[in-house]
Amino acid sequence: MKLINKFKSNNFDTRKSNKISHIIVHYTALDGSKEAIEYLCDPKNKVSSHYFISKQGFIYNLVDEKKRAWHAGESYWDGIKDLNSCSIGVELDYNPKKNKYYKKKLVISLMNLILKLKKKYKIHNKNILGHSDVAPYRKIDPGKYFPWNKINVLNSFKETKVLKNIDNNLEMWFKKNNLIYQKRKILFMLAFIGYEVEPSINDINKYNTLLKSYSYRFINFNKLKLIRKKRYSLIKTHFIKEVLTYKVSFYS
Ligand SMILES: [Zn+2]
Repeated sequence: MKLINKFKSNNFDTRKSNKISHIIVHYTALDGSKEAIEYLCDPKNKVSSHYFISKQGFIYNLVDEKKRAWHAGESYWDGIKDLNSCSIGVELDYNPKKNKYYKKKLVISLMNLILKLKKKYKIHNKNILGHSDVAPYRKIDPGKYFPWNKINVLNSFKETKVLKNIDNNLEMWFKKNNLIYQKRKILFMLAFIGYEVEPSINDINKYNTLLKSYSYRFINFNKLKLIRKKRYSLIKTHFIKEVLTYKVSFYS
C-alpha cells in the first residue's frame, strides 16, 4: 500500500494513552482533495486526521500515527470521552451535496488501510466507527451512503436458536427491571453497545438521530425499510452478541 507523505499537518498534540484501539471514519464535505488537504493542514482550523483518502484512492498520511490528531472533537464511546487519544482518524474525499455514492477506488483504498491498521494495532471491528457514532448529536459523517458492508466490518446479526432462548430470558429480565417501553429498552442496549444515550432520554428528535446513526453503522439500513419491529430485534441480537463477547474479552 502506497502512502503519500508530501503534505503534513501540524494540528496535533500528544496522545493521552499509548494504546490505539479505534478507527474513526469521516468525510470532509469539501470540493476535492486539494481543498481538503489545505483545510486539514491549516493551523487556523485546528483540525486534522492521520489519513486522508482522495476520490482516486490516493492515501495521504498527514499526521504521524503516534500523535493525537484532531478529528473527533467532543466525543464519547463506551466510557471513553477522548476518542482522539485512542484512535486513528481517516478523512474521506466526499461531499454529500455533490455525490451520492462513495467512489470505488476510495473505498478499496480505505479497505486496505483499515485492514493494515486492524492488524497493526489489533483493532476489533466493533471499534471501527463513524464520527456519527462517537458524536451522534453533532455529526452525521460518514453518512448514510457510506458502505460499511464493503469494508468488512459489519457483524452478522442473524438470529439463531441459541440467541432465541437468550432473547426470551432478556425480555423477562427487562420486565423484572421495569424496562417496559421499547424506547427505554433500546436506549439501555445502545448504551451497552457504546453510544452516549443520555441526551436521547427526553428528546425524541435526538432519539431518532441516535437510531439513524446506529442503523447506518450497524445495520446498513439505507437498503432496508425502517420497520420498527425488525429494528428492535436487530438491536437485541446485536446486544446479546455484544454481552456474550464482552464477557469473553473481559476475562481473557
Ligand atoms: Zn467528522
